Amino acid sequence: MLKNDPLEQWDRDHFLHPSTHLAEFARGNVAHRIVSGGEGSHIVDRNGTRLLDGFAGLYCVNVGYGRREIADAIAKQARELSYYHSYVGHGTEASVTLAHMILERAPANMSKVFFGLGGSDANETNIKLIWYMNNILGRPGKKKIISRWRGYHGSGLMSGSLTGLPLFHKAFDLPLAPILHTEAPYYYRRPNADMSEEAFSAWCASELEAMIQREGPDTIAAFWAEPVLGTGGIVPPPEGYWAAIQEVLDRHDILLVADEVITGFGRLGTMFGSDHYGMKPDVITIAKGLTSAYAPLSGSVLSEKVWKVLEQGTDEMGAIGHGWTYSAHPIGAAAGVANLKLIDELGLIDNAAEVGAHLRAGMRDALGEHPNVGDIRGEGMLCAVELVSDRESKEGFDPSRKVTVNAVAHLMENGVIGRAMPHSETIGFAPPFCLTRDEADEIVAKTAAAVKAVLG
Ligand code: PMP
Repeated sequence: MLKNDPLEQWDRDHFLHPSTHLAEFARGNVAHRIVSGGEGSHIVDRNGTRLLDGFAGLYCVNVGYGRREIADAIAKQARELSYYHSYVGHGTEASVTLAHMILERAPANMSKVFFGLGGSDANETNIKLIWYMNNILGRPGKKKIISRWRGYHGSGLMSGSLTGLPLFHKAFDLPLAPILHTEAPYYYRRPNADMSEEAFSAWCASELEAMIQREGPDTIAAFWAEPVLGTGGIVPPPEGYWAAIQEVLDRHDILLVADEVITGFGRLGTMFGSDHYGMKPDVITIAKGLTSAYAPLSGSVLSEKVWKVLEQGTDEMGAIGHGWTYSAHPIGAAAGVANLKLIDELGLIDNAAEVGAHLRAGMRDALGEHPNVGDIRGEGMLCAVELVSDRESKEGFDPSRKVTVNAVAHLMENGVIGRAMPHSETIGFAPPFCLTRDEADEIVAKTAAAVKAVLG
């Protein structure tokens, strides 16, 4: 730590940190870090400590840190036109170009992009557009939304309600109606050990069907889901899951919203998670990987089917009463354009697929037989290691032991950032797509050492 660094004091005194134990932080009991630089897959803090960022910030710095091409595009945009709005038919060269580039890459049948700032507000927008759509269609009672336990869709009032994690609900009187939660496709923790992946997928679909029948199909507007559960534990779907769910939704005329804030633009080793799993979304939420977090920007990508209704609606109701000052901010859009070009030019999605598979294979070799490692899973450039006290019963640990938190702290002391996933005893990794095989090997070796240090 720098001697007499005023920033250390200002941080404790003035900065209210998100997702932080506020009292413990104020008392000085939470390890804090002021980050000052980044290059490739590494960050450097104010004390000069260099760390391999196995979580790409918050699953978002997909192209890695310090990309001059994106920095230059941002600087050029700021010099030429730092801001103009996108209300009443306006736009900028960058925002129009980016909308076109997104549609070139999006799954078939996608038609329009509405821009926001982050994943939470994009999900708020999507709820409003879907309600608006059902108002236009003359079915004002079809407004309920079903999301899943363990889903993460943001922390606004409605996006936090979509989120299916109690930590985001209990202190804030959430979830608000009309949001309901159904089962998570968490195969490792299936209700019956004998169930095959396909049988478990069919069971999840039957639980959804039962909820729809209980509530009344005419009351359900949409089903909201990440292609791979992210913050809820990095959980890819079991075999057959999306086909089984899609069949239920189609039968009841319920829209599918794919929240691709983590999976969009390559994290699963393919451009979109929806294509990866054969999902047929009506709306897609995008954020993080759109700009690799070089600037805040999100988007609501709408299918032709949704767009056609909205188009008809404004003829009847007038201009749409929705928008943010910073919708399609040109600096974010310039970052997005440069970011998507860079991903293509450097073949980063293929690298994510290849090195991500290498990371998981290494983790299985190093920890697959460890008596406290219950599950090693992931897809593309995502990897999770779930810890259990007993592999047979799959029981967790006494929370006061803070097993995962301590393992991640050990990992960090040895120069690698992983994430103690907050809702299961799981160490998560979501590295930048530019991760090398050697860096993946370093993550594996240090994770194995951390698990052994904490659990023997
Ligand atoms: N959806 C998903 C799938 C996410 O992972 C996140 C952020 N982790 C969000 C939405 C919310 O995005 P933001 O934090 O930018 O509001």
